Amino acid sequence: MRHFPVFVNLGGRRVIVSGAGETAVAKLRLLLKTEARIAVFGEDVVPQVRQWAAEGRIVLTERPIAAGDALCAALLYAANDDPAEDARAARIGREAGALVNIVDNLEDSQFITPAIVDRDPVTVAIGTEGAAPVLARKIKADLEERLPASLGVLTRIGQAFRARAEMLGDSKKRRAFWTKFYFGAGDRALKAGGEEAVRETLETLLTDEIERRDGPGSVVFVGAGPGDPELLTLKARNALHEADVVLHDRLVPQPILELARREAIIVETGKKGFGPAWTQDAINALMIEHASAGARVIRLKSGDPAVFGRLEEELDALDEAGIEFEIVPGITSASAAVASIGRSLTRRGRNASLRIITGHDAEGFADHDWRALARPGEAAAIYMGLKASAFLRGRLLMHGADAETPVTVVENAARADQRIVAATLGGLPEALADAGITGPAVLLYGIAPRGAQVAMDALPARAEAV
Ligand code: SAH
Repeated sequence: MRHFPVFVNLGGRRVIVSGAGETAVAKLRLLLKTEARIAVFGEDVVPQVRQWAAEGRIVLTERPIAAGDALCAALLYAANDDPAEDARAARIGREAGALVNIVDNLEDSQFITPAIVDRDPVTVAIGTEGAAPVLARKIKADLEERLPASLGVLTRIGQAFRARAEMLGDSKKRRAFWTKFYFGAGDRALKAGGEEAVRETLETLLTDEIERRDGPGSVVFVGAGPGDPELLTLKARNALHEADVVLHDRLVPQPILELARREAIIVETGKKGFGPAWTQDAINALMIEHASAGARVIRLKSGDPAVFGRLEEELDALDEAGIEFEIVPGITSASAAVASIGRSLTRRGRNASLRIITGHDAEGFADHDWRALARPGEAAAIYMGLKASAFLRGRLLMHGADAETPVTVVENAARADQRIVAATLGGLPEALADAGITGPAVLLYGIAPRGAQVAMDALPARAEAV
């Protein structure tokens, strides 16, 4: 890191700008956000600079900067668009002990001005050491979108309320209070009734939180998606940021778990692997124990919690214990799998419906309506189907399915180690063995990868449109 980021208090300090053209205007626009005393030196003065001078916001001297002009200045910007004049101005600045920036000249500058996202008093500064201005602009644009415009106002009002919020004592309660304020309630109040409504909301939230003091916690069921952190919903991310306890499946990868707070308790409740095998009862008990103690528990499940996630069993247990819950859906692995092969889960004239089935259930290989599934034009996303592949093939062929029906296997969908195997029903177990597929995989029955258009279209298709 060559440039160390600091926030300098410019209140009452002198800042010099050498140059009075458009380049200077760009810098002045930023500097005018501060409380600095700004002095501008230059000959070719553009109207905007003249106007600021007339308004008394800057002091304009219509001549080139001279020795002694930078006395006691904190910063000096050389913005003349003229290398020789900039070098001269920079020398004057340095001699006076000011930090010097020459616009568009990183090498000879002592400091650089970052890209800024301004929600005063919240300020985000973005720097790339001059290496990638495009990247800085993109990050700025992303943040501009993500941070509500009201954040500045809310922060200012919130700041004045900090002492009152101290009465919540407990840091968990305080965090819940401020989170509700900054991510929802504050913004809603501001839009509905202005700053006065925001102050009232703070009081209401405080009372709520005091009354909730020893109340039970809650459980949020969150879909973690297929594994790529970018495929999380914003709700999932926010829930992770707020969690006290995260109970997660074996299939949720580390980069997603890292989004949880450092203080959060994280427990893998996997049913396989090297750790202890968790029974459903043990998971339910742990979830209820933490929530009853007042914790905000996240039950983080791979894909969508409502797809083969034993969600309702856990909801029943919570109902029985009288604990509140919320469900945040996620992207199920079949969606990620079909995206990876350039297909959709349904298509006019190909498959008007899609069955979501499992290869396995509590009793072993799962039974299904094989006759219906064997008909032309049927499609299914088969979860947990690797071990059952020979069984699936046997049942489907026995009920008249075409051995050439495409079955696309997507292992580790939406992860760095994703693999795709385009097989047919007749050769499915062999294709899986040949490719050595062992990771979590979805079998897309009746859907071939995009490149395999011909084989697919050769399938008997349904006549009507979907
Ligand atoms: N709730 C999850 C499914 C859990 S059951 C969801 O909505 O996706 C576990 C099965 O999900 C695995 O056996 C596998 O079939 C599938 N699965 C989970 N993650 C996967 C991934 N990244 N790629 C392919 N299949 C996956």
